[in-house]
Amino acid sequence: MRRPIPQCSPLAAYQAQAADIDAAIRDTLEAGRYVLGPRVAGFEASFARWIGVAHGLGVANGTDALELALRALGVGAGDFVVTSSMSAVATAVAIRKAGASPLFADIDPEHGLVDPAGIDALFASHGQRIRALVPVHLYGRCVDMDAIMATARRHGVPVVEDCAQAHGAQWSGRAAGSFGAFGSFSFYPTKNLGAIGDGGALVTDDAELRERARLLREYGWKTRYISDIEGGNSRLDELQAAVLQVKLARLHEDNAARHRIAQVYREGLRHAEIQVFRGDDTGHVYHQFVVLSEARDALQAHLASHEIGSLVHYPAAIHMQPAYASADYAPVPLPNTERWTSRVLSLPMYPQLPLDDARRVVETVNAWRMPRR
Ligand SMILES: *Cc1c(COP(=O)(O)O)cnc(C)c1O
Repeated sequence: MRRPIPQCSPLAAYQAQAADIDAAIRDTLEAGRYVLGPRVAGFEASFARWIGVAHGLGVANGTDALELALRALGVGAGDFVVTSSMSAVATAVAIRKAGASPLFADIDPEHGLVDPAGIDALFASHGQRIRALVPVHLYGRCVDMDAIMATARRHGVPVVEDCAQAHGAQWSGRAAGSFGAFGSFSFYPTKNLGAIGDGGALVTDDAELRERARLLREYGWKTRYISDIEGGNSRLDELQAAVLQVKLARLHEDNAARHRIAQVYREGLRHAEIQVFRGDDTGHVYHQFVVLSEARDALQAHLASHEIGSLVHYPAAIHMQPAYASADYAPVPLPNTERWTSRVLSLPMYPQLPLDDARRVVETVNAWRMPRR
């Protein structure tokens, strides 16, 4: 049996920068300040600059980042927030935690991202109660932000970009997270920029919005121990910020490595029963490389039998999961989403994946015989 190929590897990311990460951790330990200190402030500034916006705000995780962005924009009870059901459940969790309800638009069957035309259609039925749009840049690919921003302007609602899978992704040469009122990021270890624990951030060009989110991040404190508004606790710690600062220096390089792996897949994969997106992938940062098959489970078993890891993102769309199966959330049918969920498979993808391993994945997929039904 040949060496196993994992689907992703946060360990490989650590090992690639072990000396620098170890030094940053030791520095932080010896500095003696462990939560919301100078390393968090430094990382917030660096990350905002890297995205190309004025302000950053470190928070505890990506779910909190989305929730705080919505709250800072005044979204709350009784409001609808339009998003995609083809996302991490966290997107809906954050909307619910802000007190609002998700409203799902269907995806484009070409790439799995929300179809802006479907968002427009939801305004016809639910217009007055829609208070924000949350486009999800799924798999590292940007939603059509020209269409999203035009729709948002037409209806006078703000946009919060869910960039948890899209650190450094671009649309028309501009970074994901720089279009909306807020860009919301997760630094969960497997994301394109991953911490050694949980972490998240908001970016925005609006100093007032940043200040509102900052208050919400820590007990509503404008000054210490005095709560101006009701807030919570979603602080980022200094160890995560120090590690993120080290990793941010390599993020462009890491994203370029993901792109090279994706080109091996795009050029090599040839299988009559497997659909691969071969359209324009400019600006795509390949958080995941997905393929589609009618016999997805058999394909996944075939890969596993050759020691190749794969994952399904996601086995059930959000509106198909018991906790979110309310008809209120999916007032229109979502056929493309439901079909996508039954066919999609994520191949191995992480910056340190050797290109020879990517070629072995290609050969193994191409050699698969789809079972007769
Ligand atoms: C990971 C993820 C989140 C949530 O981030 P956490 O840090 O895990 O809370 C939100 N949205 C999407 C699309 C994600 O992939």
